[in-house]
Formats: sequence, C-alpha cells, structure tokens
Amino acid sequence: MNYPNLFAPLDLGHVTLPNRILMGSMHTGLEDKAGDYDKLAAYFAERARGGVGLMVTGGISPSIEGWLKPFGGRLTMPWHKPRHRKLTDAVHAEGGRICMQILHAGRYGYHPLSVAPSKIKSPITPFTPRALSTRGVERTINDFVDCARLAREAGYDGVEVMGSEGYLINEFIAARTNRRNDRWGGDADRRMRFPIEVVRRTREAVGRDFIIIYRLSMLDLVEGGQDWDEIATLARGIEAAGASIINTGIGWHEARIPTIVTSVPRAGFAWVTQKLKGEVAIPLVATNRINMPDVAERILADGEADMVSMARPLLADPAWANKARAGRSERINTCIACNQACLDHVFQNRRASCLVNPRACHETELKIEPASLRKRIAVIGAGPAGMACASTLGERGHAVTLIDQANEIGGQFNVAKQIPGKEEFHETLRYFRHRLEDVGVEVRLGQLADATTVREGGYDEVVIATGITPRKVSFPGSDDPRVLGYLDVLARHQPVGARVAVIGAGGIGFDVAEFLVEHLPSPTTDVARWTREWGVDMELRQRSGLQAPQPEPPARQVWLLQRSEGRLGARLNKTTGWVHRATLKAKQVSMLGKVGYERFDDQGLHVTVDGKAQILPVDNVVICAGQEPNRRLADELIAAGITVHVIGGADVAAELDAKRAIDQGTRLASRI
Ligand code: FAD
Ligand code: NAP
Ligand code: SF4
Repeated sequence: MNYPNLFAPLDLGHVTLPNRILMGSMHTGLEDKAGDYDKLAAYFAERARGGVGLMVTGGISPSIEGWLKPFGGRLTMPWHKPRHRKLTDAVHAEGGRICMQILHAGRYGYHPLSVAPSKIKSPITPFTPRALSTRGVERTINDFVDCARLAREAGYDGVEVMGSEGYLINEFIAARTNRRNDRWGGDADRRMRFPIEVVRRTREAVGRDFIIIYRLSMLDLVEGGQDWDEIATLARGIEAAGASIINTGIGWHEARIPTIVTSVPRAGFAWVTQKLKGEVAIPLVATNRINMPDVAERILADGEADMVSMARPLLADPAWANKARAGRSERINTCIACNQACLDHVFQNRRASCLVNPRACHETELKIEPASLRKRIAVIGAGPAGMACASTLGERGHAVTLIDQANEIGGQFNVAKQIPGKEEFHETLRYFRHRLEDVGVEVRLGQLADATTVREGGYDEVVIATGITPRKVSFPGSDDPRVLGYLDVLARHQPVGARVAVIGAGGIGFDVAEFLVEHLPSPTTDVARWTREWGVDMELRQRSGLQAPQPEPPARQVWLLQRSEGRLGARLNKTTGWVHRATLKAKQVSMLGKVGYERFDDQGLHVTVDGKAQILPVDNVVICAGQEPNRRLADELIAAGITVHVIGGADVAAELDAKRAIDQGTRLASRI
C-alpha cells in the first residue's frame, strides 16, 4: 500500500474517515453570494471525488458582527440553509464529508460593525471594533451554537470552530487583545473561558454524532500571545468540552513572520503540533506548507500528528489524494505556495483560483472537454503558457507538437527555480513533464522554430508562446563585461563579485537580490535555520514562540535600485511582497529610489540619488529592468499570411506572470 499512514482510516466514534487528509478551510470568495453556491458545490464535489477524507468550507460567519467583510457569507437564518444544502448534497453524492467553518472575524472584520473583547484596533484593518458587553459575549456564544445547529440541519458532517489566526476567539484568549475585567477576561483561565464555552455549548446543541473540529492557535507569533502551558491547558479544556479533533493554527494575520509562503520550509511548523501530542487523546492535525504525500506521510509516520491539513494543495490538484493512493504522486499538480491566485485574490476581493490550476473555483465555467474535431496543432515555446496550452490541447484529443529551442521544457521557470525560496517551481516542471507525456504531446526540444519549420509542418493551428526578451538598458559603460543581465547570472551562471548593484526592483530584481545575498542551499531547505533567521523559538521558551531573529550575514553586499520614487517593492504581490522586503532588509540590502544611472567604470556604478551624485563601489551590475514581448516568430508568420494565436509573454510582456501565462494558455486550449 502506498503511504500506509496517510491512507489509514480514522475512527471518530460515530464516523470513520477513509484517510488522514483534511482539506483545510480556504476562503474562495464564492461563500459570500447565494448565487455562487452552485459553483462552490461543483468545486467541493470535484475535491470529494478526488478522494480527500474530510473537507472544511471557507469561513462562514455566525452573525453580521462577525462578518469578515460586508455581506460576507453567514449562516444565521433558516432560509440560509438551502444554499448550504447544495454543497452538502453535492459532496455526499460523491461519497465525501464536509464540515463548515464558523468564523467570527472579531477585530479583523473589514466593516464598521466589528466587535472584539476590547476596543483595540488591529494593525491590519482600518476599523476600531466595539467592545462586547458581558451580555454581548453571551449572545455571541449563542450565535456560534445556533450557527452549528443550522449547519447540522443543512447537512454538514460537522463544524470547525475557528479559534486561531487572530480572529475573535483568539482575541479573547490573548492578553494582547483582551483587557476585560469581567468573567471573560483577566487571567489566562478566564480568557480561555470563551472558546471552551463555545465548544461545550455547541456540543450540547448538536449531539454526539457530529464532528467538532477546533482550530487552536498553537503559535501566535505576536507579542502578548499565549505561552505553551496556557496552550496545552486550553487544548485539554477544548477536549473536555467535547471537540472531536484539534486542528493547528499558526500565526495571527498581523504577525510579521511568514507562515505559508513558498520560502517557508515544507512542514515547517509540524513540530508545533507534535509538542501537543500526549496532552490530549483526540486526533491532532498538522498544517502549513504540507504539499506532497511523502511530506504528509513522514509527519504521520513520525507521530507528529494524526492527520494532515492541506488547503491550497487541493486547490492546485483536486485529485491529490487519489493520485497519492494510486502511487502516482509524480502526477500531482503541486501547490507552489505562491499565493498569487488564491490568497492574493481573496485580499483583493476577487474570486480565488490557482496559478497552476486555473480551473480551481471555476469548475463550472472552464471546462476541458473532448474536441469535436481532432486538429494538428503546433505550440512554439514550452514556457508556462506553452506547456499549459499544449497539455490541455492534448487532453482534449488534439495532435499536438510542442517545440522549444531550449533543451528542457519550462521557459523562465528554469530560471525562477534557482531563486532561494522558489524551490517548489521544480515541481511544476515535473508535473508538466508527466502531463505532456500522458496526453501524448510530441515534445521537440533543442529546436529553434522559424517560419519554414511552421509552414512545412502543415499544422491546422499555430500557437506562439515564445515568451520575452529581457529589456536592455544603456548608459556609458553598460557594455562592460562586468555589467550582466539576470540571465547571465541565473541561467549562464557567470561569476558575480562581493559587491553588486541590481538595476530594477520589480519581481526579478528582488529575486536576483535574494539570490545574491543568500547562502545556498537556502534556509527554505532547513527548518532549524529558517526559524532562527525569522525569530521563531522551537523550544517555545517565550510567549508566542518569539525570539530575536538571527539572520545569517549576507553572502554579498547588494544595492537594489529603481528610477521611480516611493517604497521599493510596493508592486510586489499583496500577501508575499512584505516577506521579500523583510528578507532583503534583514540582509542589509540598500534599497534606493529616484536613482539616475550615469556610468559604470573601475570605481563602480556612478548614480544620482534624488539628484545627488554618488558612486556605488561595486564589482558587478545586474540588469533586471523588465521585459519585452518576443514576437519575432509571430510577426514573421503573420507576414507570411499564417494565422497564429499569441499567448503569454509573446502577447503582452508588461506585468506578465505565470498566473496569466498558464491561464491564457489553458483558456485558449479549451476553445480550439
Ligand atoms: P517563457 O517562460 O519566457 O517561455 C518562452 C519559451 O519559448 C522559452 O522556453 C523559449 O526558449 C521558447 N522560445 C522562444 N522563441 C522560440 C523559438 N523561435 N523556437 C522555439 N522556442 C522558442 N512568475 C510568477 O508568476 N511568479 C513568480 O514567482 C515568478 N518568479 C520569477 C522569477 C524569475 C527569476 C523569473 C525570470 C521569472 C519569474 N516569473 C514568475 C515570471 C514567469 O516565469 C513568466 O511570467 C512566465 O515564464 C512566462 O511564460 P511564457 O510561457 O509566456 O514565456
Ligand atoms: P517589472 O516588474 O516590470 O520591473 C522592472 C523594473 O525595472 C522596475 O523596477 C523598473 O523600475 C525598472 N525599469 C524599467 N525600465 C527600465 C529602464 N529602461 N532602465 C532602468 N530600469 C528600468 O519586471 P521584472 O522584474 O522583469 O519582472 C517581470 C515579470 O515577472 C513581472 O511582471 C512579474 O509579474 C513577474 N515576476 C513575478 C514574481 C513574483 O514573485 N510574483 C517574481 C519575479 C517576476 P523603474 O522604472 O522605477 O526604474
Ligand atoms: Fe498554491 Fe499558488 Fe495555487 Fe495558491 S495559487 S493554490 S499558492 S499554487
């Protein structure tokens, strides 16, 4: 049997789960409109079909005060039940099980009606919450209980009570946010009364044959959080109150330590869950950056937890569990933890999806169906856009030839995978290698396609996915061999000196700067090194698991430069940009804006900063000044009268990322 621990059934008394895989709660944006519940049902049904043992919905509020945002999803009235019934029926029809997460946002509510234990504004929302009165606290507990009862009536197999990440329940538990002096505040025992009462009264209301998962904040990662004894005491209290499972919560949303981004080591927080083993008898779930079966299996085999939770990995591949069970892990479309289409979208009030799987949350709209007419199709360029397009065309039954001048598929992903903290990009390349093979795409590598190749091929359709060319920058001395392009450094591995100026502070400039300052292999590959760098104490001696960060000294001295005014990296991705900025700050990178590039010579790079002349005494300059579409072949073919489809960087290079490239390639292929 493959992964025997992962696929061992789990007996919860009234129900036995088929395996140890929990699809963790993930807000998709579809929860918030009644009209979107058919889409949400299709999304969950596809994942139930994929073999996951138990799923948890995105957060549903038990009251208007508890909304995450105005008019967010809630289950407070009997007439809300039918929409939830769509989900539960769809999941049960596929033989799956689903719990609804009850999430009261507390002071994280992005609206003026928000409430909290005390009137203390969070650093990440503009609204100051109203402090709940003592009666208000009782009413709020009843809201949780009523919500759970309605969830049961709507057909859910259970609920998850969200007690972590800094939401209302967590705010009651932590002295940081609870300054009350009634029975719901004061010492630790009184602060933890709220969650225990929520669970106890919910259990009374829903009976024994209903799952209650409690998401317990095991590592707050903010000042004024809990210490380990308090956490263990709370866990025992939650078990005694009637919870069936304890899930792990890591870090408040306002914490300045990354918890799920791609540079966090795989299973980087499973050790926290392990510390709680032995304190309670109910199953414990490990979370965060678990994305492949071997990682999950090791956690269970080593006794660190009884289940593993994965949210984004099941967005990326709904059939994750079935593939693992069948011993086909190499076919899993792995979540690369980029946050670009999931969390970033949610924070921008957009529907979530997935960079590597654009069908996620669009199951009813983006359908990959067999082609009515089989065509011969050439796809030129095997970067993300070309790989996605060719494999989708192949899946639909077309005869596809994928051509690339390079000796490997992947395009710029072969460059991106070199960046410290982007090791997961290897997985996408591995996935596409197998997928292209499985759907019978003929892959021709090491072949530069030109108009003749294409014409002689006699194809019915031609897709151009030839990517980009790096933008050149010219100033006196820019032709000096010490002035390099980012491809010289990352693809051609040219040596780089100890002091470097990076011109351009977009995504690639930041990545190159990280490449230059990190000691390889990167801390992402080593949990102990990574926690030391970020200031997480694995011994949990201090409250919240914090200790002073101990960044390793930078491998090089780096200046990161841009011509425009304002903070560098302001346009990096919403939920990950701050991690890149913090990393470079810790490595003492000098970030300069309003820079003019004057000349390069033996003294270094001569610049003006805000009009003042300065010499940066560097050995090398690396240019990361953006990209231009590579439309050479497209233009040649169009001139020769051949109709082409142009996608990815070849279409529009500005602000192009792999999300747009894969999405465009997949959508085009679904239509041809
Ligand atoms: P490319 O990936 O550029 O692929 C084009 C392919 O076409 C190449 O393989 C090339 O060899 C081939 N080709 C060109 N002309 C011909 C020809 N005539 N004949 C045959 N083959 C040809 N994006 C993100 O979303 N997130 C990230 O974190 C991220 N990090 C990055 C980090 C770095 C360091 C870099 C360089 C890029 C990063 N990107 C990231 C950007 C992302 O890789 C690109 O947006 C994406 O690769 C564009 O895909 P594409 O298929 O359009 O083009
Ligand atoms: P970019 O984001 O457009 O940044 C280009 C940088 O070069 C800017 O800082 C720009 O700032 C500077 N620049 C532009 N023209 C210049 C010129 N003529 N002379 C000097 N400087 C110039 O492009 P990129 O960094 O090359 O990234 C390419 C794409 O890859 C991006 O759109 C991004 O989406 C994607 N990517 C994403 C990630 C990620 O983590 N999500 C990582 C890497 C790449 P000034 O004009 O102010 O100087
Ligand atoms: Fe994972 Fe990125 Fe997809 Fe989100 S968008 S599920 S982080 S691969």
